[in-house]
Amino acid sequence: MPKDKQAQTGAEERPQVKLLDTGCNACGKRLNSWDARCSKALSYKHAVCESCMAEEYDMQPEELRAYFEEVFGMRPCLGL
Ligand SMILES: [Zn+2]
Repeated sequence: MPKDKQAQTGAEERPQVKLLDTGCNACGKRLNSWDARCSKALSYKHAVCESCMAEEYDMQPEELRAYFEEVFGMRPCLGL
């Protein structure tokens, strides 16, 4: 699993969220860069949106974000 390089220094590097040209593999909603990062962290072959991920893990989207921060050191993108 690829390590997120931004986790190393605790720098407050929080990229602005961007809309991507791909859709969620489950619901078809347009993905953003945060969805893509989360999908990558969880090694999804086909990216899915945050709400579909949350559903799969039976979590609220806020819980999922807290989980990513705790486990992967990923700060949610700005503008989510
Ligand atoms: Zn979805």
